[in-house]
Amino acid sequence: IQQIHTTDVAIVGAGPVGLFAVFELGMLKMRTAVIDVLDAIGGQCAALYPEKPIYDIPGYPKVMAYDLVEKLAEQAAPFDPSYYLGQRVERLERGSDGLWRLTTSSGATIQAKAVVIAGGVGAFGPNRPPLPGLEGYEASGAVQYMVPKPEVFRDKRLVIAGGGDSALDWALNLAPLARSVALVHRRAKFRAAPDSVARLQALTADPAKDVDLVVPYQLHGLEGDGRSLSAVVVRDLEGRERRLEADVLLPFYGLSMNLGPIAEWGLDLERSHIQVDPQSCATSVSGVFAIGDIATYPGKLKLILCGFSEAAMAAHAIHALVHPGEALHWEYSTTKGVPGDNLQGS
Ligand code: FAD
Repeated sequence: IQQIHTTDVAIVGAGPVGLFAVFELGMLKMRTAVIDVLDAIGGQCAALYPEKPIYDIPGYPKVMAYDLVEKLAEQAAPFDPSYYLGQRVERLERGSDGLWRLTTSSGATIQAKAVVIAGGVGAFGPNRPPLPGLEGYEASGAVQYMVPKPEVFRDKRLVIAGGGDSALDWALNLAPLARSVALVHRRAKFRAAPDSVARLQALTADPAKDVDLVVPYQLHGLEGDGRSLSAVVVRDLEGRERRLEADVLLPFYGLSMNLGPIAEWGLDLERSHIQVDPQSCATSVSGVFAIGDIATYPGKLKLILCGFSEAAMAAHAIHALVHPGEALHWEYSTTKGVPGDNLQGS
């Protein structure tokens, strides 16, 4: 017998923004179910950079990405969301009774009065460099696209490739641990924050650190026994080669945006993002909302803090769908408290 879980609002994606939506919807007395294809909550924060500090969360001068996820889960917990992890939402259909039905890759069906898509970049995967023998080095961990535990790179010779924020941030963060860091980019100019570029340039001049900027070069080949790496070969546009001794290659060529099944749900899209009304985060399909990285509107900033605000706006708009005819009395969390809290503060 197929089990159908009925809730008020189904949230696709358990990234930071989906988790905060549980809280915002809960504060307005709406029950939630959260579905994520990953085995753990936290989206990009947990999967891509758990041990990296975030500096632009209001009220937290510095917070590790994973700690932020834990706090968001704690904040959502009083509202008792149902989590469906390790399963992808494949289908989204509206029944003749007006309810939305979401079907997951594990065969679960979730029925809800409204849907919030907080799917980030969709099913995300790294852009991989086209190098012969890459798979063998990926399998052994000599080529990696994420840094879940920086400590594993202690005393290693690292080649980091890419010219954006991720490449520079990791070069800066791993330089104190690694034996050496070579940053390879195909242009002399970086696309990263000017402050990071300046800090990295300062590091290359530091005699106590073995940090090298290898520009303008591109990855050309991998040397080793097919599993353990001994060097990364790079080439410039004139065909000049350099051999960079290495234990690990970390290419940061961005994430491939793959909306996956979300692209088939009949929503208005703009270059792999879902178009929303910035006042409510409503999509082109009534009853379906999108927030966080996946949502776009003029002036959109892909920041966690903007996603939090979108979650609040969507929750207010959704209240009318879940509790029709019920007036929404504006209240601050300080007045109202959360379930299980006695409002006395601590
Ligand atoms: P995500 O975190 O991408 O989560 C979306 C979730 O949806 C994923 O877990 C995915 O598996 C799931 N999903 C997608 N499709 C489906 C489906 N069909 N079925 C089930 N699940 C699905 N932002 C900042 O504000 N400050 C920073 O300092 C900062 N630093 C960053 C550093 C790095 C290295 C990176 C990569 C990003 C950084 N960001 C930063 C960006 C920030 O992580 C994102 O803005 C944020 O994660 C977006 O949250 P989200 O919940 O919208 O999406």
